[in-house]
Parts: sequence; C-alpha cells; structure tokens
Amino acid sequence: MTLIEGKTVSAAVKERVKKEIERRGIEPCLAVILVGDDPASQIYVGNKQKACAAVGIRSLKYKLPKETTQEELLALVDRLNANENVHGILCQLPLPKPLDKRPVLSRIDPKKDVDCFHPYNVGKLWSSGAAFLPCTPAGVIELLNYYNIDCAGKRCVILGRSNIVGKPMAALMLKKDATVTICHSKTANLPAVCAEADILISAVGIARFVTADMVKPGAAVIDVGISRLPDGKLSGDVDFEKVKEKAGYLTPVPGGCGPMTIAMLMQNTLTAYDLQHT
Ligand code: NAP
Repeated sequence: MTLIEGKTVSAAVKERVKKEIERRGIEPCLAVILVGDDPASQIYVGNKQKACAAVGIRSLKYKLPKETTQEELLALVDRLNANENVHGILCQLPLPKPLDKRPVLSRIDPKKDVDCFHPYNVGKLWSSGAAFLPCTPAGVIELLNYYNIDCAGKRCVILGRSNIVGKPMAALMLKKDATVTICHSKTANLPAVCAEADILISAVGIARFVTADMVKPGAAVIDVGISRLPDGKLSGDVDFEKVKEKAGYLTPVPGGCGPMTIAMLMQNTLTAYDLQHT
C-alpha cells in the first residue's frame, strides 16, 4: 500500500504558488469574512491566513459580530467586490443563524470566488472552462495526479453528494474520464457499490464508515472525511488500520486531504489575481 502524503503534496503546491508570485513580483490579496465566534471557523481562518503569509499572498480578515444582518454582510461583499486591490473573497462557513449563505455566495464577484461556490462558477465547472476549481475536490485531483493514479476508464465511487465535496468531486472525476457513481444516505447496497471502485472517495463525515469489505483489492482510497472520536482524536471516514491491508493507495487523516484544501485556496487566489489582470 502506498500512503498518499497530503503534507508533501500540499507543500509542493504552495511552493509552486510562492515561486510564481516571487517570479512575477505580484501581491495577490485574499479577503476572508468571518461572522460570529465559532471556534473551529476561527482556527480554519487562522490557518488560511498563515498559508497566505507563507506564499506571499496578502490576507485581510473581516471579523463581524454574530448579530450582523444579512444586509450588512452583503454590503461588505459589495465593498470587497468593488475594491480592485482585493482579488479573492472567501466567506467562512457555516454562518451563524439566521444568516443565509446562499445570497452571500451568489453576491461574490465570480472572478473573486476562490471557493468556487457562485452558481456561475458551478455551472462552468459542469460545462467547460472553469476558472476556479473548488478547493477540496481540486486537492484530491492534485493527489491523484501526484501519485500518477490513472483515472481514465476507471470506476470511481464517491460517497457523499454535498455541494462542497461530493458533487464537484464527481464533475472533476468525469473530466478525468472516470466512470463515476455518487452514493448517499439513500443508496441501496452501498458496500457492494463501493467494492466495485478502482478509486473510492469518501466524504460522509462518519468515523470508520468505510470498512475493508467495501474496498476492492488494490483500490485507491481517498478519505476526505474528518470527524472527532470520543477520545478527542481526529478520524477520517475510513477504517485505516484494516483498509491499509487491502488498498493500493490510501490517504491518512490527518495529513491527507486536509492540507490540500488550503494549498488549493492559495492556487485559486493566484488565479483570481490573474483573472483581474487580463
Ligand atoms: P455533508 O454536507 O454533511 O454531506 C455528507 C454526505 O454524506 C451527504 O451527501 C450524505 O447523504 C452522505 N451520508 C451521510 N450518511 C450516510 C450514510 N450512512 N451512507 C451514505 N452516505 C451518507 O458533509 P460535507 O460538507 O460534504 O463533508 C463531508 C466530510 O468531509 C465531513 O467529515 C467534513 O468535515 C469533511 N470535509 C473535509 C474537508 C477537507 O478539507 N479535508 C473539506 C470539506 C469537508 P445525503 O445527501 O443523502 O444526506
């Protein structure tokens, strides 16, 4: 079994972005909006800002109180859209209730939409010529490419159909010429469907959901899931210790897909800069 090391690959992506920024002497800028006091969101935003600093991207944090109204949030997005020194805009999710994320994500200028959540960019993703690729699925593709895992003509099964991971992941695997099946909580005979996969990508969010009997011998198993066990440790969706005896390739959690998401955000911010300078 080959362990897919997300830390190594994410470092390579960030180095690529850093070198490109240095070579061109530019300073892309990412604006991050954080509403409320969710501790996990604060950590995620902090990590994104650290990654920005490491690659030469300027980051601006807009921390708003949880009482912020929908109108105030949209007004901030409008200001950032109009600011030509801001190239990428990210609104950290989830938003505190009763704020609705949909009007906010649709208000971000599609050229600054580094998370690729705007309906225009989602449409482009499923048709052709997407400028941005959603960060987590794009990170999975980067891992598959780095380890030369051939996707063309292969059976790919994706567990999960969210707008953030499952659905865009399917679009990207189709682009890689895989034959794609998306499974969800209503899928019948799910273990048997999974066992047919040459490439199994899990984004369910249930610890040890993917057991060894669901894995075809030699398959590439990509674990996007992150959940916390009762002892406080992080776990992926995959029963790592058992599945590692059967899979051909396997991502660990932590250290697999997680670091890739931030690396791809850096890549997308550079892309956003280019979109505004062409
Ligand atoms: P989500 O919106 O909750 O979606 C979970 C998906 O799993 C849904 O489509 C759901 O099906 C499906 N599911 C739930 N229980 C199932 C079951 N028993 N059998 C089959 N399918 C089942 O979650 P998400 O935002 O996509 O995230 C998924 C996981 O990835 C989470 O652990 C999250 O923390 C992690 N994640 C990691 C990164 C990263 O950077 N590595 C980024 C994003 C997310 P239904 O649609 O039928 O409900």
